[in-house]
Amino acid sequence: MENTQSNILHEEAQHHIVGGVNSPSRAYKGVGGGTPVYMQRGAGPYFYDEDNNKYIDYLAAYGPIVTGHAHPHITAAIKDQAEKGVLFGTPTALENTFAKMLKEAIPSLEKVRFVNSGTEAVMTTIRVARAYTNREKIIKFAGCYHGHSDIVLVQAGSGPSTLGNPDSAGVTKGTASEVITVPFNDIQAYKEALKVWGDEVACVLVEPIVGNFGIVEPHPGFLEEVNRLTHANGSLVIYDEVITAFRFTYGSAQQLYHIEPDLTALGKVIGGGLPIGAYGGRVDIMEQVAPLGPAYQAGTMAGNPLSMRAGIACLEVLQQKGIYEEMDRLGKRLEDGIITSANNYKMDVTVNRLKGALTVYFTNKQVRNYTEAAATDTQKFGEFFHLMLEQGINLAPSKYEAWFLTITHTDKEIDNTLKAVDYAFKKMSRC
Ligand code: PMP
Repeated sequence: MENTQSNILHEEAQHHIVGGVNSPSRAYKGVGGGTPVYMQRGAGPYFYDEDNNKYIDYLAAYGPIVTGHAHPHITAAIKDQAEKGVLFGTPTALENTFAKMLKEAIPSLEKVRFVNSGTEAVMTTIRVARAYTNREKIIKFAGCYHGHSDIVLVQAGSGPSTLGNPDSAGVTKGTASEVITVPFNDIQAYKEALKVWGDEVACVLVEPIVGNFGIVEPHPGFLEEVNRLTHANGSLVIYDEVITAFRFTYGSAQQLYHIEPDLTALGKVIGGGLPIGAYGGRVDIMEQVAPLGPAYQAGTMAGNPLSMRAGIACLEVLQQKGIYEEMDRLGKRLEDGIITSANNYKMDVTVNRLKGALTVYFTNKQVRNYTEAAATDTQKFGEFFHLMLEQGINLAPSKYEAWFLTITHTDKEIDNTLKAVDYAFKKMSRC
């Protein structure tokens, strides 16, 4: 596959944009290097690079593009709104419409606020939880990504009773000392953390289905126990559903598992591909937020008409009957086909899948937490990634990310993908 234009553009980008990319995960660091492919156009499950090579897309822009690229209903809504004005700085009826749609889909959102990214949504839920509880520490699960605000850029300490270390230069030790990190799916460690830090803990931040060290589901009863123990401790439960909301069902993980947190952070899919975030939850907690309460949060672009229209249109598309079932069916075909090829070539591969999202790990072991995900073979994933890309299959360039199906993928794309997987495994098994 010829990548002349991507090479030229990436060379140019290095002169103007830090590292040539506007988000580090777009560089191919996690897959042994290479030039990122520069895309110029998307249509349904496909996109086309600057050399006009065609790819089947499983990146879905790291999650948001669940309706496929340039969905006509969403595109029409964006065009229509662009002609009417994109930003007013006043309230609009669109914000009410969209807030009501979100509340109907996710009933724990008694009140919501729109922001501009998942990062902002999570960051603000933490502020609100601190304001409500008058406590400062937070607990998070190791390896879970919650955006790039200081407080969540903190790595695991060496055990549940130790505090975190900054995961990025520029995050202060003081900030890191407010964070306790425990392994996902380990209720014993969570109990211990609460025992040690108890009345200092404002909230726990939970990705109810992990999407950031691959797709990892909670063990049965894990979320219920986290809720019970947290509330008994006088702390709040925050669900980061930036990836999970509207990915697996019309609604969020809360609807899948019949469980409710106190606060929820949203982003990605709810913007139909435009920048967005939202947070919400129990009314008495949300009333901490200005102008009603003492917790400040604001935004020039928050609730902007363009994102509202795209989000409303996206949810309208997702209300169609049967689409999540179809993504599940196609996801199962992918999973089964990948495992069959892996067995044929005696490759150690584990697939974690939930409906239309899956992760392919190069290991013969189960992956239930970050340590297990980290221990999978990075080099093999890198080889696999590049072999797939050469065959026109675009995956996320990291072993920790998911493959995301869209409502526009069909059996044809799955067949072609499985052929490419088979070829890649065959080549890898001979090296
Ligand atoms: N939370 C989760 C679970 C995420 O996956 C992400 C982004 N990958 C974020 C928060 C941050 O969202 P954004 O990139 O929109 O700031």
